[in-house]
Amino acid sequence: MRHLIAALCVALMGAPAAAQDLGAPVVSSQSKQAKQVFGAFGGGSGHKAEPYGSYAKGCLAGGVQLAETGPTWQAMRLSRNRNWGHPEVIDFIEKLSAKAARQPGWNGLYIGDISQPRGGPMLSGHRSHQIGLDVDIWMLPGRQMNLTRKGRENISSISMQRSKGAFVNDLWTRAHHEIIKAAAQDRRTARIFVFPGAKVQMCKDETGNRAWLRKVRPWFGHHYHFHVRLSCPRGARGCVDQAAPPPGDGCADAQEWVNNILNPPPPDPNAPPPKPRRELTMADLPEQCAATAQSQ
Ligand SMILES: [Zn+2]
Repeated sequence: MRHLIAALCVALMGAPAAAQDLGAPVVSSQSKQAKQVFGAFGGGSGHKAEPYGSYAKGCLAGGVQLAETGPTWQAMRLSRNRNWGHPEVIDFIEKLSAKAARQPGWNGLYIGDISQPRGGPMLSGHRSHQIGLDVDIWMLPGRQMNLTRKGRENISSISMQRSKGAFVNDLWTRAHHEIIKAAAQDRRTARIFVFPGAKVQMCKDETGNRAWLRKVRPWFGHHYHFHVRLSCPRGARGCVDQAAPPPGDGCADAQEWVNNILNPPPPDPNAPPPKPRRELTMADLPEQCAATAQSQ
């Protein structure tokens, strides 16, 4: 009899519908690679929108999809299905793109990756973008606001960098400065990542209030797009903010990045070897992510 009950339990637990009805996490799934789980969803979870965890270790419940086409934006690379985010990031994109459309030569923004439908780690690409609060915005001025699906796959952004990121190239314009400034001035923005040469250029060109520059942080890559990271939305108790950037405009720090690009310091012989990165499992993510994964 006990065997029969055990077999019945296994059968029930093994059936996805039954597991969802019970709302109980399937124990064996704790060891599953989180990217395999979250990389497989086609749509969002049926919950209230809520980010769980941190930018590089978490998930997104109740994600909403950015419309493929808006009056002042285009979601690019639709085949990736990464135009999902927290409603705050969707609203942010709508408002920023309207401002971008007022810049000379721009009719709006081309939007790259936000998050997967339920956030979480991805099978390829980013480490962050896991909680629906990060968005990549193309440097290529958005001109055409009626691209086809195919057009959105085939068009490429443009690089703004020269000398490995130490400087901007001649495709950089004041419009880029103004759009990144507007993004930084949104109260919801925590950080913007862009290549060091762009930050230094903006430090030189800004003659007014410099407070917004604090949020613009030099980082590797980020010359085909800039990356906006929003703070945890008000009341999102499961969402983990990053520490605020150090006080000040960060311009000296960006200049140091540039100096290191131009004159790389010799490698430190005592530096410990980089730790190999372990794949995140479901057990590494906040426990709400299991429910986010199980919802219909
Ligand atoms: Zn990014």
